[in-house]
Amino acid sequence: MTLDPPTLLALTVALAAAAALYLAIEWRSVRESSLLYWSAGFATITVGSTLALLRMNGFLLIGIWFANGMLVFAHFCFLLGVARFTEVRLSRGWLLVVLVWVSLLLLPEGPSWSKIMLVVNSLLVALVSLRASFLLRPHGVSLSVGAVQLRYVMLIHGLFYVIKALTVVIPGTLIDLAAFRGEIIQISLIEGAMAIMLIALSMTGTERYRREERIALLAARDPLTALFNRRALEVRAPVLLRATSHERPGAVLLIDIDNFKLVNDLYGHTAGDRLLVALSETIRGLLPANALAARLGGDEFVILLGNARRDEVEVLGTILRERFQDIASQSFVTPMAVTLSIGANLFDQPPASLTALIEQSDAALYQSKRSGRDSMRLVDLTLTGD
Ligand code: GH3
Ligand code: MG
Repeated sequence: MTLDPPTLLALTVALAAAAALYLAIEWRSVRESSLLYWSAGFATITVGSTLALLRMNGFLLIGIWFANGMLVFAHFCFLLGVARFTEVRLSRGWLLVVLVWVSLLLLPEGPSWSKIMLVVNSLLVALVSLRASFLLRPHGVSLSVGAVQLRYVMLIHGLFYVIKALTVVIPGTLIDLAAFRGEIIQISLIEGAMAIMLIALSMTGTERYRREERIALLAARDPLTALFNRRALEVRAPVLLRATSHERPGAVLLIDIDNFKLVNDLYGHTAGDRLLVALSETIRGLLPANALAARLGGDEFVILLGNARRDEVEVLGTILRERFQDIASQSFVTPMAVTLSIGANLFDQPPASLTALIEQSDAALYQSKRSGRDSMRLVDLTLTGD
């Protein structure tokens, strides 16, 4: 089998159709509109490459001008998909691409016709591809592995088209679009087949990685307060706990709202939710570096501190209780004060487990509740502690 242009084009048609289908199927499960734009791009390449075969039967307008225009349009679909993915609005100036393409119709026939056609089309594809790659550059937001892949694939693809345009200026280059003659045309068809595979795979990867990141984020967070949930804390706590030593004692604060049910009963569940969110924001605002906070469930929260001194833990507990009491008393009038009880432990040896640690603080919290609520009971388990 020889890889002559018609064979390569037939291969391109098959690959582009498969990519279009693959991305459309992916869209059915992921429902991200960028996947639809990318699928439309490959569908356009499928049609454009089929039409490109017609040039061999003398249909030059459809087989060259129109088919190449479809290739530019396909890349524009890719750019639109990337713009959707990165949530960037494209300027209307991009419509000039259509104008440039249409103006190619005015190109007089002659020996340079093929070369000018190839240069303009290549530069349009390069411009659109490089813009897509540029949109995927890191700009503060961390990009998923898939997006980084897509960025480089679009960059290399765009640069290839710049080089393709530049080859025209090499003296003696043969480019005959009507007869598919000229080395750059052959190379370009091979690059096209490879690019389809790479672009389609990195596009699916782009959305998949983002979806996985979203799922992981959702799975780790308490939906109401956006603090870590218990499972996420269990995953993250061991690193912090293992670093505990005599020089770097750790601390845990187990926090439970006093008389929280009164807020729910008197003001409704939504008001109770608002108070839970207010408490979580207070916790977040006071959280020092090297600390973790989580909502364990209901009205119970936990703070883990690495490298904590006793006086720091006491100050943190006091500020937390005071701020919360201010918020609760200003928002709700209740027969019994809505305050915080805290059970805290200071330790200088890594605990057996997070569960064991929480159990210890639970005992301290119980003491705090029994002694009249609105207080912090701190148990110092360090060697220097009492
Ligand atoms: P105590 O002073 O002994 O801590 O009593 P309490 O009234 O605070 O009630 P307790 O801690 O025993 O129980 C917590 C209550 O929080 C029980 C439940 O009705 C309520 N609750 C649990 N989850 C939520 C939630 O997501 N939203 C709201 N609004 N209420 C919740
Ligand atoms: Mg409570």
